[in-house]
Amino acid sequence: MGLPEPPDLGAAALAPGSYAGQAVVVTGGGTGLGKAIALEFARLGAAVAVVSRGEEHRAAGVAAIEALGARALGVACDVRQPDAIAAAFGEIEAAFGLPSVLVNNAAGNFPAPAEDLSPNGWRTVVDIVLNGTFFCSREFARRHIAAGSPGAILNIGASYAWTGGPGFAHSSAAKAGVKNMTETLAVEWAPYGIRVNGLVPGLFPHQDEAPHIVGGVPERGENEGARQPAGRVGRPREIGWAATFLCSPFASYVTGATLACDGANWQRRAMLQPEFTPIREQLGKGPFTG
Ligand code: NAP
Repeated sequence: MGLPEPPDLGAAALAPGSYAGQAVVVTGGGTGLGKAIALEFARLGAAVAVVSRGEEHRAAGVAAIEALGARALGVACDVRQPDAIAAAFGEIEAAFGLPSVLVNNAAGNFPAPAEDLSPNGWRTVVDIVLNGTFFCSREFARRHIAAGSPGAILNIGASYAWTGGPGFAHSSAAKAGVKNMTETLAVEWAPYGIRVNGLVPGLFPHQDEAPHIVGGVPERGENEGARQPAGRVGRPREIGWAATFLCSPFASYVTGATLACDGANWQRRAMLQPEFTPIREQLGKGPFTG
């Protein structure tokens, strides 16, 4: 049987209008899970700023939010650039007022054996995931501390922050940093009324997945539900619902926590593990040649 399917897209646990009059920033909010998160905030009345590099991505997010009758703003910004982040928050604040929620969702990733990773590949992923999350969080917090207003930050993580992630040394190290930083910032900023939490998606296939992610992992896309304890993959709206709850007043005493929304996939263990296959072989790579 597995875990039941969730309610249909369009349903919401929180009351209609729960985010009315508030602005929410979602980095990477024009694609995939970021877009699903942006839409659930919009459905509850938020004005949503979609922050990303690509014009097409931003336009897709803005159009989907506006189609729900909510206000949206696409803001060009690379989260690796602190000055650009400051300018983006300035633009958002001018349009909507100071946002009450920041969702750090933007990420870059690609599978590779660690010995194949170039310094540039390593730095790029760590820069977007770890540094980008810190720079955006810092900008958000400084504005709230100055204004004396409360806020909520949500960092989108990955379960290999707990386990390590063979084939994803860069991303798993960066996500582990994000999880740790979530715990630190929650303590530092609770006195200012700012909560900081993490949300970890399990396997959530979506239409925007980059071909190098899907194509780079052999058998990705095949029989994915059967590979999960839940008997199914996640539905993007399930991440959106978790996000809107964690940033809401109904989670007002939850901070420094990281919630896994993955159907218990990361805790699975076989009594006997399958025979070990080195990561080069799993990724279909030939011998390392230097
Ligand atoms: P995605 O479709 O690849 O989206 C990534 C988003 O990040 C894009 O909208 C991209 O927009 C933005 N982005 C990348 N680099 C950026 C930069 N330097 N500055 C600003 N924006 C940037 O990814 P996803 O699958 O929806 O994943 C969303 C989050 O969930 C990520 O944090 C990911 O690690 C996590 N996650 C996903 C899964 C899953 O199954 N999908 C599983 C575990 C964790 P631009 O290209 O326009 O900049």
